[in-house]
Formats: sequence, structure tokens, C-alpha cells
Amino acid sequence: MSKIAVFPGSFDPITRGHESVILRALPLFDTIVLAIGENLEKSGYFPLEKRINWLKKIFAGEPRIRVVSYSGLTIDFCRQTGANFILRGLRTAADFDFERGIGLMNRSMMPDLETVFLLSAPEYSALSSSIVREIHRNGGDIRQFVPEGISP
Ligand code: ADP
Repeated sequence: MSKIAVFPGSFDPITRGHESVILRALPLFDTIVLAIGENLEKSGYFPLEKRINWLKKIFAGEPRIRVVSYSGLTIDFCRQTGANFILRGLRTAADFDFERGIGLMNRSMMPDLETVFLLSAPEYSALSSSIVREIHRNGGDIRQFVPEGISP
């Protein structure tokens, strides 16, 4: 059976921390689906179209990475996609607490779906999309925090 992982996130914007997790996870799976969750209550800082196009551009050379957006429950999206894994990154104990709750709830709803966590690379463990947004909102230069080749 082919190993398909869904990496769900807002990617608002994608950071070098996300990129590092995705590239390190590639040897573990046959396909990684980068899935941008559409939040019906808030539209995000960067438009969804832009976020999708950045992901497509960054990973254009990697046919095993797909980019999609989805709404609704992540487990329902995983079922529709035929994914058997969820991929997430862990930076801090706070991430762990948050992910533990979601991971266990997902597990009770879909027991054959495993959540796989990769520890953040140390150089990216303080990097978050929310801080990058804050810098951008205030006119700062965010290039060192986002993957090469995109210019939010
Ligand atoms: P969400 O809105 O679902 O938290 P994010 O796009 O913020 O989506 O994050 C998606 C995943 O990427 C989460 O598992 C998060 O912990 C992980 N992540 C975010 N930043 C980093 C980083 N700097 N290093 C490793 N993992 C990260």
C-alpha cells in the first residue's frame, strides 16, 4: 500500500520551518499532500490563492508533493485522499500539548490514521507563521524566514 501523508496547515505564510519538515519527511512517504485548511470563520492574512501558489512554486520539482486546499474535518479529507498518515511538526512543549489533543481526537475518530511528528530543526524552533506575519504587517523584511524564491 502506498504511504500517503497529509500535512495540514494554514501555511500563512509557509516558513523555512515548514519547508524543512516537508523535505525531511519525503524519504518516509511515497506522497505528501500539502493541505491548506480553509477556515470559514477567518480568511487568513495572505490570500488562499497566494499561499497555494507559493507551495506549488517551492515544490514544483518534486512530483511526490501535491498541493491542495480543503475545508471540513482533516480526517474526512484524509479519507477522501486515501491518506494513512498525518504529518505535523513539533517545536515546543506547547506544540506538543496542542498536537496531543488533536492527534488523540483524530485517532478516536479514525483509528487507522497515524499522526507522525517530526521535531523542528533547532534553527527553526522559534520560527512561526504568526511572527512572520507580524514582521510583514509592520514592514519588516521576512526573506530569511520564508523559502527561497517566494516574495510575500
Ligand atoms: P496550523 O494553523 O494548523 O497550526 P501552521 O501552518 O501554523 O498550521 O503549522 C502547520 C504545522 O507545521 C504544525 O504542525 C506546526 O507545528 C508545524 N510548524 C510550524 N512552524 C514550524 C517550524 N518552525 N518548525 C517545525 N514545524 C513547524
